[in-house]
Amino acid sequence: MSLSQMARSIHESVTLKLNQTAALLREKGEPVIHLGGGEPKSKTPIDAIIACTGVLNSGDIKYTPPDGIPALKKAIIRYTEEHYGRQVRPENVVASCGAKQAIMAALIAILDPKDEVIFPAPYWVSYPEMVKLAGGVPVPIVPEDGSFYPTLREIEDAVGSYTKAIILNSPNNPSGVMYSRDFIGQVVELAARKSLYLIMDDTYNRLVFDGRAPINCYDFSTEDLEQSKLLVINCVSKMYAMTGFRIGWAVGSRELVQAMATIQSQQTSGPATPSQWAAVGALNGIQNSIEALRLTLENNRNILMDQLNAFPGVHVTRPDGAFYCFPDFSNYEKNTQKLSEFLLQKVRVVTVPGREFGMEGHLRLSFCGTAKEITQGVERIRWALDPTA
Ligand code: PLP
Repeated sequence: MSLSQMARSIHESVTLKLNQTAALLREKGEPVIHLGGGEPKSKTPIDAIIACTGVLNSGDIKYTPPDGIPALKKAIIRYTEEHYGRQVRPENVVASCGAKQAIMAALIAILDPKDEVIFPAPYWVSYPEMVKLAGGVPVPIVPEDGSFYPTLREIEDAVGSYTKAIILNSPNNPSGVMYSRDFIGQVVELAARKSLYLIMDDTYNRLVFDGRAPINCYDFSTEDLEQSKLLVINCVSKMYAMTGFRIGWAVGSRELVQAMATIQSQQTSGPATPSQWAAVGALNGIQNSIEALRLTLENNRNILMDQLNAFPGVHVTRPDGAFYCFPDFSNYEKNTQKLSEFLLQKVRVVTVPGREFGMEGHLRLSFCGTAKEITQGVERIRWALDPTA
């Protein structure tokens, strides 16, 4: 075996692997219900399709600047002004192959060996692996009270001489919870005080429920953007249901963003040209698809909550946004890898084991499918765990 230590230490994305498992079983005609997925069912907005096919039809599809075409940067600048109230310049913006590459490029740009990155658990499965890929050390913070809400003290206590960055993701994958305004404000202030990078992963920021407004981290940042170590990540993947286009972006200081652009110039030469135009179409086009998706997800969340609240022995925290919830099944089985495999074998329901998100005993259930899939999926889980119920 001559693979690098790095290659051997990195785990495959369990959620992407589960997508493949579900697809293979479906191909064989198995009646699979996929509650493990991470993408909305809705179609790509028409404005994105028009913009993308326009460039495809021109046949003129060439390299672009590695940090994005000017039209995409312009659309991102407008988005930042509208949704964050911040005026930024093209040098403060880098477009990437999804939010994933933006975060990865940021980590490569800021981490030296042994540098640590703090993030609260439960966390998106990719954070630990991405930190390791960038040569750093992941430092997950598991809230002591068993909730999904770390305290500022827990975050601050984890800051040491090697800490370089904090990642916050709200609404959170996998729990769907939004951290409070106070908490986000305190973390922004802590990062500035300790001179740490703060990567705000706002992938689900527009998909929030119960009349709540997205929380804008810039509300708490008094620093000039060029002096600030705050980096805001977004993407078209979830809000426009455009996961396959692979377009995300980051907004931050010129120094960091330009370093990320240089890294991308050697990694990918930038995102695919037709995808960039599709993102321009989505960002500049009619915006009603986001609200339609948000309403569908809120309705699905309500259906799922009703079912889980009536599920004996299962504890669930109500998601405030995104399309995941993270119920505690430890009364049935503490080892959720085993539980997830059992549910797939026994009733063909795909779930994601909590261990992958840094919290055993929980399963991540997605509610981005249809209401019928959600209802039937939970019914099957209930029957599998207690056939007499
Ligand atoms: N950040 C979080 C919290 C996510 O859940 C995901 C995808 O599941 C991403 C980033 C990656 O988004 P993209 O598909 O744009 O790379």
